[in-house]
Amino acid sequence: MGFPQIGGFKPTARIYKLGILLIASLTIYLTLHIATSMLDPKSTSFTGGLSLPNVLGGSGSKLPANLSVGVLPPARVSYDAPAPGERVNGAIVVLVRNSELDGLRKSMRMFEDRFNRKFKYPYVLLNDQNFTQEFRDGIAAITNNEVRYGMLDGNYWNYSPSVTPEETEKKLQFNKNRYLYGGSLSYRFMCRFQSGLFYKHPLVRDLDWYWRLEPDVEYYCDIDYDPFVFMRDNGIKYGFTIAPREGRRTVETLWNTTRSWIKENTDLLPEKSLVNWVMGTDGHYNLCHFWSNFEIVDLSLYRSEAYESYFNYLDSAQGFFYERWGDAPVHSIAASLLLQKGEIHWFEDIGYKHPGNMHCPRDPAMHSKCICDHAKAYTYRSACQTRFSKVNNMSKDRMLQILTNSEFEYRYDPNKKSEE
Ligand code: GDP
Ligand code: MN
Repeated sequence: MGFPQIGGFKPTARIYKLGILLIASLTIYLTLHIATSMLDPKSTSFTGGLSLPNVLGGSGSKLPANLSVGVLPPARVSYDAPAPGERVNGAIVVLVRNSELDGLRKSMRMFEDRFNRKFKYPYVLLNDQNFTQEFRDGIAAITNNEVRYGMLDGNYWNYSPSVTPEETEKKLQFNKNRYLYGGSLSYRFMCRFQSGLFYKHPLVRDLDWYWRLEPDVEYYCDIDYDPFVFMRDNGIKYGFTIAPREGRRTVETLWNTTRSWIKENTDLLPEKSLVNWVMGTDGHYNLCHFWSNFEIVDLSLYRSEAYESYFNYLDSAQGFFYERWGDAPVHSIAASLLLQKGEIHWFEDIGYKHPGNMHCPRDPAMHSKCICDHAKAYTYRSACQTRFSKVNNMSKDRMLQILTNSEFEYRYDPNKKSEE
C-alpha cells in the first residue's frame, strides 16, 4: 500500500516520518512546559499557588520559595484534619527525668504523628527535679500542643510512712541482684507515686482522664479516633495494650496484703468484678497485669473511695520499699477488683512498643494503618492476654468463698512453677 498524496506532491517515506517526529516533539515540549509551570510556585503563569498539607490545623501554608518540589504528595484528610468532635477533660501525662530528653522526644514524635497533632491534648510533664531549659526547648520543638511542667516535692516523692530509710537500704542491698531495679531507691519512689499519688498532683487533679506516655516507647498505627471519647461513650474506665506477667519476687506479699484488705473492706467492693483475671482458681495471684507504661484511665477509678482505701492499706504495709511492688500490678489488681469486664478495654488496634514487649495488630483491617511487623509481636499468645479474652465476671460472694478456702500464708517458693 502506497502513501497518501498531499496536493499532488508525493512525499517519500523519509520525509513523512520526519514530519511526524517534529509534531510529536512539539507536543511533548508544550505539555512539559505547561506542567512544570503549574508545579513551580515561583511561576508567574500559575496564579493559585500550592499549599503544604495543613499539619498545624491553621489555614495552610504556601510552599517556601526555595523549596523545589517535583511531585507533591496528596493531602491526607485523616492526617491533616483538626480533631473531629469534642474532647474530654484529659491530658497526656509523663513522668520523666531531664536525662531522658532524647527518649521522650522520640516517643512524642511518634505519638504526635500518629495521634496528637490531630487531637491536641495537652501534655503534663512531671519530674522530681526541676526541668532544665534545654529539656523544655527540646520538647517545644516537637509539639505545638500545650505542655505543662510540674515538680514533685516530698508530698509526692517519698517513702511510705510505714518504712524507714535504714531498713529500706538493707532491703535494697538484699534485693539488688534478685530482680531488675531490685537495688534502686528512686524506682520505689516512682512506683509509689504512680500507684497512689500522681492523680492528686495539682497539674493532674483537675483532669478527668489521663493517658500515660513514657520515654522510648513507639506508636505504630494511625489513631484516627479519640480513645478517650470512645471510652467515655462506652462506659470504659481502663484501657491497655499489653498484659504480661510480673516477676513473682517483686510482689511476694502483695496478694496477701490485698486479701487482708478485701476481708476488711468487702462493703467497698462491687457485687461482681473481673477479679478472676488476676486470681487463679487456687485463690492466689497469677501475676497477670496490664502494663501501665501505656494506660488510658478514667481517673474517677483512682479517686474512688475503694481505690483510696486500697492504696493507703498497701502504703501502710511495706512492700513498695521492702519488696518492689510496681504500679502496674497495683493498678491491675485494683481495676480487676473494682471493675467489670465491659469497663476494661484492650486497645488491639494501637500498635505499641515499650522496651521488652511489642504489640502489633494482626487483623488486616487494623494493620493497614500500622508500620509494625505483627509476625514479631508475641503478645497475642501470652497467657495473660489469652486469659483476658476468656475470663468473665465473678460475683463477690464467689470470690470471698475462694479466698477463704485457700487461706494460708503465702511464701515465695522458687521451685513452684508459676501457674498459667
Ligand atoms: P520501667 O518502664 O519499669 O523499665 O521503668 P522506667 O525507667 O521506664 O520508669 C518508668 C517511668 O518513670 C518513666 O517514664 C521514667 O522516665 C520515670 N522515672 C523513673 N525513675 C524516675 C526518677 O527517678 N525521676 C523521674 N523524674 N522520673 C523517673
Ligand atoms: Mn519504661
